[in-house]
Amino acid sequence: MRPEDLLCPTPRGLYCPPADVYIDPMQPVPRALITHGHSDHARAGHDAVLATPETLGIMGVRYGDDFARERQAIGYGEVVMINDVAISFHPAGHVLGSAQILFAWRGFRLVVSGDYKRLPDRTAGRFEPIRCNLFVTEATFGLPVFRHPPTELEIAKLLDSVALFPERAHLVGAYPLGKAQRLMALIRDAGYDKPIHVHGALVRLTDFYQAQGIDLGDVVPVDLDARKTLGGAIVLCPPGALQDVWSRKFPDPVSAFASGWMRIRARAKQKGVELPLVVSDHADWEDLGRTIRETGAEEVGVTHGAEEALVHWCETQGIRARPLRLVGYGDEEAV
Ligand SMILES: [Zn+2]
Ligand SMILES: [Zn+2]
Repeated sequence: MRPEDLLCPTPRGLYCPPADVYIDPMQPVPRALITHGHSDHARAGHDAVLATPETLGIMGVRYGDDFARERQAIGYGEVVMINDVAISFHPAGHVLGSAQILFAWRGFRLVVSGDYKRLPDRTAGRFEPIRCNLFVTEATFGLPVFRHPPTELEIAKLLDSVALFPERAHLVGAYPLGKAQRLMALIRDAGYDKPIHVHGALVRLTDFYQAQGIDLGDVVPVDLDARKTLGGAIVLCPPGALQDVWSRKFPDPVSAFASGWMRIRARAKQKGVELPLVVSDHADWEDLGRTIRETGAEEVGVTHGAEEALVHWCETQGIRARPLRLVGYGDEEAV
């Protein structure tokens, strides 16, 4: 039994031969298993899709209900047999519905983790490490410089700025799936109870989160004609909208951006971000290493990000590791 018998990288994406399924494929395939709803992992046009009910719902919101010919929902911890492979989904803590996928076959266990984080997030479920032989991990922040600070401190920076500049609108760039809703939850949990205003591009996914029972308080779509009146307000928008004409009508806007990349000052500066918030939905360097150790894996495959650094770290720990050289991941969230 070699790891390649259970998992091989192909131009269409990661492929599991004994189950004849692809995981987060980049091209249309007969049968896809989807770890989560980000557009670099979940694409429309597959014949059949197996995913958590939340991920299927998110794909429906983004692509319309006909995104796949056939859809099958699988809850966390449920087992589906495909050929003689036992397949189950487990929380990844990344965004609502995100899952690691466990494949058990002839005594060998493979986990494909998709994207994941270890910090608590009440909008995304809690990551659980799964014992396995082969662990497939991302490495978005796979360099020692990336250490995410406690999220509460970053939210405090935002709320302090709102208190300090009550006449300025605070525009916070956040990815529309996951990051935006997590920020809302964090802002609420910090005690902020005024309405949170959102750009139109965030409305449907935020509604979906609320409909799934995630309380985000009073969320109000921005009235384009009333932007001048939003001094002192918190307004969430897609990162691209920060530089857009859309942002210019707000009173003396403070431009904030919530991303793990904000750890790099030069990056914030280059994007013209006045208030960088280091809030990430990916594991940082320390959590990548901790997670790999907790899985007990003898071998690690690295999908995307700083592959070389993480592969090297694994080797120093006596764990076999290889980059899987998948193209097309990391587009949505990693900018
Ligand atoms: Zn993702
Ligand atoms: Zn990703």
